[in-house]
Amino acid sequence: MNCQGVWTIAEADQGKIRDVSFELLTRGRKLADKLRTELVSVLMSNHIESNNIQELIFRGADKIYLVSDSKLKHFIVENYANVLEDLIKKYRPEIIIAAATTSGRTLMPYLAIKIKAGLTADCTDLDIEKETRNLLQTRPAIGGNILATIKTPKYRPQMSTVRPKSTKPAPIDRNRTGEIINVPLKPELIDGRVKRIGFRKNKQEDANIQNVNIVIAGGRGLKKKDNFSLIKELSQHLGGAVGASRDAVDRSWISYPHQVGLSGKTVIPKLYVAIGISGAIQHLAGMKTADNIIAINNDPEAPIFKVANFGIVGDLFEILPKLNERLSKEECNDRK
Ligand code: FAD
Repeated sequence: MNCQGVWTIAEADQGKIRDVSFELLTRGRKLADKLRTELVSVLMSNHIESNNIQELIFRGADKIYLVSDSKLKHFIVENYANVLEDLIKKYRPEIIIAAATTSGRTLMPYLAIKIKAGLTADCTDLDIEKETRNLLQTRPAIGGNILATIKTPKYRPQMSTVRPKSTKPAPIDRNRTGEIINVPLKPELIDGRVKRIGFRKNKQEDANIQNVNIVIAGGRGLKKKDNFSLIKELSQHLGGAVGASRDAVDRSWISYPHQVGLSGKTVIPKLYVAIGISGAIQHLAGMKTADNIIAINNDPEAPIFKVANFGIVGDLFEILPKLNERLSKEECNDRK
């Protein structure tokens, strides 16, 4: 089939490359190195500062296909898919990975149908089968109870989406060099049938737990809704956001946007404090890559302690009020 190169689909928002694009480079670099091929980042956007574009190279891309045009200012799936299809036909990549964001989840299936390729959505791990160069695409299956590894042996490119925050952004190396190829937008690729007439934000509450340094999360161990105030108080003292296990969300103690885990959000804060959370695999899937994990649980055998850097075995109803009181006093002293 003579396809080569690993591509990542960079995303931009309001003239700035989104962090998830750098996370994709972490994954892409590993695959490209194993295949001994180039790593290309495709960026479709309006205007982006050149040093921001350069960052894609500093973080691992060997080449950038930059399609910059005011007609690409807003994500419109028909237009983005037409541009990508055109690039794919010309350069024939072996692998394409995109983020499982709203736009990635819209673009990639649309594109897969257009180019008759396979697509594995929401992968948690990607690797290469050495003998065949097939992409090994691992994702939860059968209700999250197993991890399935999926291959696409007959079709190219092999395409996957990966969850945002499921890996760290690739580090910056200012000595890296690469090539930026400006690809002019062909007017015929813009589908005039679809126009953006406005943007209205979903009124549903959102919880920013993905772009914060500290997440304080509570689970079923809190026993009832009112006790979540202990978690909220601690998160206020520490300047963090409130997370929760699915059990706590299912019991309506807190809303779904706070849920961490396989069917919730993936977070990589500097500090994750799990309180009254047992550490089921589905919960760990959303937080185990945090830099530091502290667990408070009265069961010394709770699986959460296996991933915790620091654990307190004890009753949260004794520990949290004392901790909150101590932090309040310190804040008062600081103000004096
Ligand atoms: P439990 O497992 O009941 O743990 C409560 C913990 O609190 C226990 O370890 C207990 O020792 C401790 N505790 C009790 N009292 C105290 C006390 N006084 N002081 C200190 N500790 C105490 N779960 C998620 O979290 N996120 C997901 O996204 C998610 N997705 C899922 C997707 C699928 C397809 C499936 C099948 C399951 C999913 N789950 C998810 C559910 C998951 O399997 C667990 O059921 C859930 O994480 C358990 O939540 P928990 O830890 O709060 O409750």
